[in-house]
Amino acid sequence: MGSYVEIIENLTLILGENRIKTDLESLKIWGCDRTRHFDPKPQAILFPQTTEQVQQIVRLANQLKFAITPSGGRTGLSAGAVAANGEFVISLDKMNQVISFFPADRMVRVQAGMITEDLQNYALQQNLFFPVDLAASGSSQIGGNISTNAGGIKVIRYGMTRNWVLGLTVVTGNGDILRLNKGMVKNATGYAMQHLFIGGEGTLGLITEADIRLDRVPKNLQVLVFGVPEFAAIMPILSKFQAEIDLTAFEFFDQRVMEIVMAHSQLQPPLAAPCPYYVLIEFEAPYEIILEKAMQIFESCMEQGFVLDGVISQSIEQAKNLWRLREDISESCAPYLPYKVDVSVLISYIDDFIKDVEKVLKQHHPEFKICWFGHIGDGNLHLNILKPQNLDKDEFYAQCKHAMRYVFDIVEKYDGAISAEHGIGMTKKAYLGYSRSDEEIVYMKRIKSIFDHNLLINPGKIFD
Ligand SMILES: Cc1cc2nc3c(=O)[nH]c(=O)nc-3n(C[C@H](O)[C@H](O)[C@H](O)COP(=O)(O)OP(=O)(O)OC[C@H]3O[C@@H](n4cnc5c(N)ncnc54)[C@H](O)[C@@H]3O)c2cc1C
Repeated sequence: MGSYVEIIENLTLILGENRIKTDLESLKIWGCDRTRHFDPKPQAILFPQTTEQVQQIVRLANQLKFAITPSGGRTGLSAGAVAANGEFVISLDKMNQVISFFPADRMVRVQAGMITEDLQNYALQQNLFFPVDLAASGSSQIGGNISTNAGGIKVIRYGMTRNWVLGLTVVTGNGDILRLNKGMVKNATGYAMQHLFIGGEGTLGLITEADIRLDRVPKNLQVLVFGVPEFAAIMPILSKFQAEIDLTAFEFFDQRVMEIVMAHSQLQPPLAAPCPYYVLIEFEAPYEIILEKAMQIFESCMEQGFVLDGVISQSIEQAKNLWRLREDISESCAPYLPYKVDVSVLISYIDDFIKDVEKVLKQHHPEFKICWFGHIGDGNLHLNILKPQNLDKDEFYAQCKHAMRYVFDIVEKYDGAISAEHGIGMTKKAYLGYSRSDEEIVYMKRIKSIFDHNLLINPGKIFD
């Protein structure tokens, strides 16, 4: 590896003055994401402004042999953007512009550091819609969303981020610039390599530009919140709605989550009495008949005992407040230092899966308080384990890691994924084998070495 001074001198030649931060405060801020499992220890934070500058940095890294961590909005929940081992962080913060808009294609080309919410707002200004939406949209970047193949609250209708990516410009770990798919819908000219970078967690190279497909703006969105007597009632509610109405969201959370959100956000409880579980349903109602249909389904759910009580938004403001019950969960739980688990199984298995997980956690860790919530309409469950007050943070995380063996045994039993949308990063790499076969992992490592001969881009993420 080149000396620190030599590397910084060369980086300054590439980036110019004031585009490198080395002070302790900045190293701490840009060296991590939202996880708190690893201490950030980056060497420096770099702020390129162009794809060519990114290329020059990566080429320098190959020449002087230093490792790079790509960094987006740092809202990740798997330590994918954490520089824990002396990496140089490439932040995309200064690459946040719209490059061009193609109205006839309903497509926009943006720099990868654009904030998700800014892209949503830009789309609305064009009377179009970017449907990737998460509680972190105000900070996450489109490059981070693509690298994690982010899901979020609208997947049931619009799919994952992958569905909205028509092309990428990337700088591979070898320092080559590749323009992949160039925004086309149809392109039958061999391997669709952009898909390797989507969900690649920055391990193959850096995404610098993205071609994003946009959709029409949904009309007259309605939000319902139902109180549900038992977990087993949730899936029949989903089936009943899906049989008649195209949903844009179907989320759930339990009463413990509701109490935590109420205490944190000072929102009014949505229903007269607490219920064991809640579902939040959103759908477009451009015609009165859809609303009538929803009311009929609600009544039939009440008659069959699937729903105890319910509320429907009467205004945009009320719809926003109902959504806050779901969107404020992460922030409200944060003071409890939750250990976050983000798994998916087929919707058909969810009932049995949840019962099995609760059983093993009760058996091995009866002191753990757990909360369930998530994008259940996609088979995606978020299990948060809250830190008991009497345990210190490190001991708690150690116990949770131990508990994961039991939980992931169950994920494996149901052919599920140990991460549905947050990614593997560093927090889950020890468990990758629960969802991917040895052969698959060998192929993944070979793919990495094709794009990144010297294994310098985000080393130690997904696998060692
Ligand atoms: C409150 C809250 C709610 C959340 N809700 C959801 C949710 O509903 N669904 C969901 O999927 N996630 C959710 N997340 C997780 C997180 O927001 C997503 O994973 C998001 O896509 C990360 O984007 P980011 O820009 O913050 O990426 P970062 O955290 O900065 O990085 C994530 C990964 O991408 C890599 N990366 C970042 N930018 C680039 C780039 N330009 N090129 C190559 N690699 C890059 C990093 O190295 C890292 O591996 C939530 C997080 C929070 C804090």
